[in-house]
Amino acid sequence: MTSSSTRVSAVHGGDAATTGSAASGVVLKIESLSKHFGGVKAVDDVSFEIQAGHIHSLIGPNGSGKSTMINVLTGLYDATSGKITLLGKDITRNKPHDRVSAGLGRTFQNIRLFKEMPVLDNVMIGRHARTRSGFFRVLASPAARKEDLATRERALDELEFVGMGGAGDLLAGGLSYGRQRLVEIARALATDPTLLLLDEPAAGLNPAETEQLDVVLRNIVKRGITVMLVEHDMNLVMAISDHLTVLNFGKKIAEGRPEEVQADPHVISAYLGTDEAEVEDAQG
Ligand code: ADP
Ligand code: MG
Repeated sequence: MTSSSTRVSAVHGGDAATTGSAASGVVLKIESLSKHFGGVKAVDDVSFEIQAGHIHSLIGPNGSGKSTMINVLTGLYDATSGKITLLGKDITRNKPHDRVSAGLGRTFQNIRLFKEMPVLDNVMIGRHARTRSGFFRVLASPAARKEDLATRERALDELEFVGMGGAGDLLAGGLSYGRQRLVEIARALATDPTLLLLDEPAAGLNPAETEQLDVVLRNIVKRGITVMLVEHDMNLVMAISDHLTVLNFGKKIAEGRPEEVQADPHVISAYLGTDEAEVEDAQG
């Protein structure tokens, strides 16, 4: 698309060349991460790494800790213990806003758009997370006005990128579920993420919308943005992922390439709800 996308990949390449951890291809490193809610170990001593340029999917049955993992990574929840390193920088105790500045973008499992506001304004809010004057800027200042125009341009670019060009003036709440999800992705892209965390972007989408999402995800990676995908649609996950991590009851039970994970007896038993021993018995 435009210069903004070129700049995103240029920034990404620069990081890879200068920081130790990113040079080895690791964008995000999670070490022994836990999040407990009282007695509930929603995320329990989980470690894994996300490689630059990958679509890395985090899967697992309902309640296995996927959304909690995203919420701890983005700083919505404090980790109970463990360490999160983004591009070589320890962000474990950083505020959510600082993590956005460090290059962590996200969408939510439950769509969080301002439904009474136009689509374009919703995307501009993402961009304001990155600009100097912020959302509650002083409109009278010429510098702020110039920044506002640039913000608007960038938001229009991102809408175009997700295939929603021309929808900017529509009210967000009037769009189909699938199109609202695309607006959320555009808003997250406007924050200039190095790593984009997507929580069930295909939920509630019809087959045509899922197909469009598949194309958008591949184009995001082409821009040099790494993706961590939480998703239930296994056809999409297996088709699009470079690597998978599987959670069950908050613990990591498997990881690897899609074909490896699909054949893993622990994964099969977690999804089918059978006893692990039964699967092992059945396999001899
Ligand atoms: P998933 O996204 O994989 O379906 P979640 O991360 O939403 O799973 O939930 C993992 C576990 O943590 C569940 O048992 C859930 O009830 C619990 N949980 C999640 N968020 C909270 C919270 N804010 N307070 C208490 N328990 C929570
Ligand atoms: Mg969830």
